[in-house]
Amino acid sequence: MKNLESKVNELTELDKEHYLHPLTPPKMQYEQGPPIIVSEGNGVYVKNESGDTFIDGMSMLWNVNLGHGQEELGDAAKEQMKTLAFSSSFNGYSHEPAIRLSQKIASMAPEDMNVVFFTSGGSEANDTAFKLAKYYWKLKGQSSRNKVISLSRGYHGVAQGSTSATGITEFNSLVGPKSPDYLHAEPHLLDCELGDRSHEDYHKSVRGIIEQEGPENIAAIILEPIMGAGGVFTPPEGYLQALRDLCDEKDVLMITDEIICGFGRTGKNFGVDNWNVTPDMLTFAKGSTSGYIPLGGVVMREKIRDEMVKTDDVLFHGFTYSGHPTSCAVALKNLEIIERDNVMDNVNNMEQVFKAELQKLEDNHPHVTKSRAVGLLGAFELYADRDKEKPFDPETGASFQVVDECFKRNLILRSIDWNGSNIVAIAPPLIANKEEIEEIFKIIDEGLTAFE
Ligand code: PLP
Repeated sequence: MKNLESKVNELTELDKEHYLHPLTPPKMQYEQGPPIIVSEGNGVYVKNESGDTFIDGMSMLWNVNLGHGQEELGDAAKEQMKTLAFSSSFNGYSHEPAIRLSQKIASMAPEDMNVVFFTSGGSEANDTAFKLAKYYWKLKGQSSRNKVISLSRGYHGVAQGSTSATGITEFNSLVGPKSPDYLHAEPHLLDCELGDRSHEDYHKSVRGIIEQEGPENIAAIILEPIMGAGGVFTPPEGYLQALRDLCDEKDVLMITDEIICGFGRTGKNFGVDNWNVTPDMLTFAKGSTSGYIPLGGVVMREKIRDEMVKTDDVLFHGFTYSGHPTSCAVALKNLEIIERDNVMDNVNNMEQVFKAELQKLEDNHPHVTKSRAVGLLGAFELYADRDKEKPFDPETGASFQVVDECFKRNLILRSIDWNGSNIVAIAPPLIANKEEIEEIFKIIDEGLTAFE
């Protein structure tokens, strides 16, 4: 026991001294150290270095979709590393894991989305999609099309383009100003996208922005089918189709960021499958390997690749780890397990339990409202007065407090409090069973009671 305590103390001190954490206040980290040092995981559970067990109600960063401790994924990585640890994908080099994975992903994506470009993660995938969109228009003789529209509150990552496309202002305030080529539209203005130019928010809508800027200057729009980090917002019925139609009308490419939604999180292969919409490109990362190893990529319609093969030019874009053999081998095994174990059926069955439990929170807790879930991607909101939608004083940190009360009771959730909102996100591993989901909600119920 003493040994354990001294190991935790040692790790805490080393962490404070040497480890600069992403998305963390450096001052707090430097002074207090990490609140949890995770040491191992099994299924929906993880343990910290002191041996306490937590339920992972967020699949960590919405990515550990098959849950922790899946030995087959580890075995797939080991086998691949023993066989071929690395091969280039540049200049015509190729290898079986990347070839097979590109075919597999193409078979899962809608319609003629049959071509895959690999990256190491989601931010790189989105930056790649933006470059490919602009390149496509350049090849078609329309190089003025180089602006990208995204949605306010949308999250697309932290590389150059993906930060600019991110509609959560905090990310762009780190080192502003953001690139003027990225424009943010108000999300989910269905009437405007359907053509209502008299709507008071028309100028803030995707349609309004395309029409003001001139379609000849717009390369693409990007959006998450269901907004994740911005607050788990589901679009109104018909919205994605309206955007698809708008993109066709204005000849703008539609990119969907499937980095959270992809590979079963919403009970379907991709988020867009919930509305039967086919984008021109979609980006993926997290769930492709259930977080066991970094991987991301862009899936595109054949017409985009076809434009490139009309020239003899080199595609001057690519990462050393584009199509890393081990990442691809793990992704192939991950997708095989999802199919073999009917994981998406589980998601669709558990969605009902998830929604019923969310409803119980609304029934039993006076501040809880606007709960929602698609598959195992859900959230609820907290208001000081929910009937009048009166928010809590920002000083209260309501969603943070609730998440903290749950953490004290060994449940990991996520608080979303951009722009004064108080949203609690819940996204358990896709293998969670009924008892585990009920266990999560029992703790949320206790956490809310402690907060009230
Ligand atoms: N897009 C979405 C919707 C995300 O949720 C994330 C990460 O949370 C990203 C892009 C960025 O991915 P990464 O952190 O792998 O760069």
